[in-house]
Amino acid sequence: MADTAHFGSRQVPLEAKQAMVDDVFHSVARRYDLMNDLMSLGLHRAWKDALVTAVNPPKDRAFFLLDLAGGTGDVAFRVLKHGGAATRATVCDINAGMLEVGRERAAALALGEAIAFAEANAEALPFADRSFDAVTIAFGIRNVPRIDRALAEAFRVLKIGGRFVCLEFSGVDVPGLDRLYDFYSFNVIPALGRMVAGDAESYRYLVESIRRFPDRQAFAAMLRAAGFARVSFHSMTGGIVALHSGWRL
Ligand code: SAM
Repeated sequence: MADTAHFGSRQVPLEAKQAMVDDVFHSVARRYDLMNDLMSLGLHRAWKDALVTAVNPPKDRAFFLLDLAGGTGDVAFRVLKHGGAATRATVCDINAGMLEVGRERAAALALGEAIAFAEANAEALPFADRSFDAVTIAFGIRNVPRIDRALAEAFRVLKIGGRFVCLEFSGVDVPGLDRLYDFYSFNVIPALGRMVAGDAESYRYLVESIRRFPDRQAFAAMLRAAGFARVSFHSMTGGIVALHSGWRL
């Protein structure tokens, strides 16, 4: 039987998943940032701040960040803001629509040569071995069909001593919050998607894809299998999100 992958709650041929994911993000690109604020009640900002704290870009020397599945540039903008003048960020995403919004936002922020955009698949990166000080991915890894390949590529392009940091939705582990979260996810979010982005289906996919993603321990094991050392994670907001980290040593 051919390999399959989850697309939300459906099993689809592995080869078909990426095109379906791409359709989702083409559809939502222009409303993506607004929807992020609405759906997460602004919390995605605090989650991304925690990621930037982990990346800890230095103020006094060059620092090269690769933000995978970087979409409209949010993580890269935050790392640039916190780093020094010699911080450089590359936003890599497979979706031209998301990157286009990112380029417009970068121009409005006058980021100039501090930021670059690359349209590429996280499973096959067009970058040299050991070229980045940090590789990040926020709310992106669950969309990638072959997660093991993307982790291997992240490891390959990291410098020795570099850190991989991943933010992803996870499993709620607070009694009571889990039921509230389920109700919110399966009812409120698709309704918001319909009202604000005119697209309930894409947001249903996003919710379902969260439920299919490996749990924290299983994902940590995948990081170790890709070669990362000192692998750790911590839960935020009752487990709604987890921040994963591993080092190339
Ligand atoms: N990181 C951004 C953020 O936190 O706001 C965007 C996250 S968005 C939920 C997921 C992104 O993953 C989309 O921009 C999508 O195009 C991208 N993506 C999906 N599959 C990808 C792949 N195979 N390689 C690179 N990016 C991918």
